[in-house]
Amino acid sequence: MAKYIFITGGVMSGIGKGIATASIARILKSKGFKATTVKIDPYINMDAGTMNPVEHGEVFVLNDGLECDQDLGNYERFLEEDLTRANYMTTGRVYQTVLDKERNLEYGGRCVQVIRDIPDEVLRCLNELEEQTKSDFILTEIGGTVGDYENVLFLEAARKLKLQHKKDVVFILVSYLPIPHNIGEMKTKPTQHAVKWLNMAGIQPDIIIARGSEALDEPRKEKIAVFCNVEPKDVISAPDIKSIYEVPLNFEKDNLGNILLEKLDLEPREKDLKDWQAMVDKINNPDKEVKIGIVGKYFQSGKFTLMDSYISVLEAIKHASFYFKAKPKITWVSAESYEENEEKLKELSQFDGVIVPGGFGKRGVEGKIKAIQYLRENKIPFLGLCLGLQMAVIEFARNVCDIKLANSAEFCDTTKVGECQGVIDLMEEQKQLLKENKYGGTMRLGAYDCKLKKGSLAFKCYKKEMISERHRHRYEVNNDYKETLEKGGLVMSGLNPEKNLIEIIELPQEIHPFFIASQFHPEFKSRPLTPHPLFKEFVNTCLTLKEKAYNSLIV
Ligand code: GLN
Repeated sequence: MAKYIFITGGVMSGIGKGIATASIARILKSKGFKATTVKIDPYINMDAGTMNPVEHGEVFVLNDGLECDQDLGNYERFLEEDLTRANYMTTGRVYQTVLDKERNLEYGGRCVQVIRDIPDEVLRCLNELEEQTKSDFILTEIGGTVGDYENVLFLEAARKLKLQHKKDVVFILVSYLPIPHNIGEMKTKPTQHAVKWLNMAGIQPDIIIARGSEALDEPRKEKIAVFCNVEPKDVISAPDIKSIYEVPLNFEKDNLGNILLEKLDLEPREKDLKDWQAMVDKINNPDKEVKIGIVGKYFQSGKFTLMDSYISVLEAIKHASFYFKAKPKITWVSAESYEENEEKLKELSQFDGVIVPGGFGKRGVEGKIKAIQYLRENKIPFLGLCLGLQMAVIEFARNVCDIKLANSAEFCDTTKVGECQGVIDLMEEQKQLLKENKYGGTMRLGAYDCKLKKGSLAFKCYKKEMISERHRHRYEVNNDYKETLEKGGLVMSGLNPEKNLIEIIELPQEIHPFFIASQFHPEFKSRPLTPHPLFKEFVNTCLTLKEKAYNSLIV
């Protein structure tokens, strides 16, 4: 049997349980084990696909097309491995499976109950994952905070597994230690309460990861140990640090990997985090800066700027920048602000490059189109992602090919002649799905092949002809306009061979130094040690042009 590590959260959400889980998995991998990670989201939704990114953060997409929580993105980035839908669970999906089995008479006529059958189904899924992946370790992050009603059934599954396999199961509590301004002292009481909540579920944490703005000192370590019933060495200090990629190294300062092995009756092992350490050294010692603007809309919530809606885009920019020892300076630009005031477009010139990421709905699209026109005409490096490609095509159709009414079927009724022309349109099968109100899990999702045009910028980035990338969209470039767009000078440099869909568009480099957009989401496949080719070349161009401009000033 594999070893199971359950990670729960105390005091409040958003303290880095996902990063902790991903980091522990990376540490175990660095010790030569096969480790895999599971996220349990305790809500009823079947997946994360129908949730608003402002409320829930980015929807991450796996190769197999599952739309899931952004934590799966962290897992993939830290493990540098592709995960599958077996690595994700929601209350809704567990119940659905149990209900389907009940309808199929798989419970042999007995009464199917919440306690017993739901936790048992959770354990069956984890066991199936163990068999599928042949993992030595299954790390399961239980979403939410201990004490929430919602995650009780998942805690119950974990408790039961521990009872059956004492030496194979370990519990970690990631808790938060506030330092209230008026007191100026790190307080342990909320963590003590969190442990009590866990105890009420029949669980005693083996390890407590103490998150806080500062490192734990000895008196507080002792206090947590005594009142939470663990040894001081099992209280791991996890202060805020500059980069999430330092977390595995930080945990290892407290010897977390071998502490876990010992608790699970395994011999201690050496780790190999040399590559990881080298990457972190680069992050901490940049020798230049790269200024990137992101023109989007999902980042304003009252007074606050949310980073989570585009987390994979941000990470992909960082990976590419780290590679070149550059510190990325990322600025959020509201697309809508360009609709109100075109003068504002000039601010785009301050960036070394600009990204127009994915999105849904009409709000802000005209601003994005204006921004892309400015980037194209002023030869500022541009990378468009999904909706970013669709907006670039509309912009080109309107302003270069003179199709003044060019638009997307997402924003206007393309059947009304004289009102708009659907250069971006729905595929037939999508039209049917929408007619039947079938929204959940029905977009073009997951990995699809794409063939690149030799000699193109895309080919220069990837250095090969066949690639596979992850999608999440309903609308496509309408092939009826392909010829016109090509005549106008737009290059279709990536095509899906199966359905002849346009996946990448670009401008020749003689015309623009870097103007490229993809219908897929390259950000989902960028990893810290292997930045994504499109992001890498984008940042490379930004840096090269910046240096050229600087040198020309010196002369
Ligand atoms: N809204 C567009 C579509 O559904 C783009 C989606 C996206 O950017 N992920 O096709």
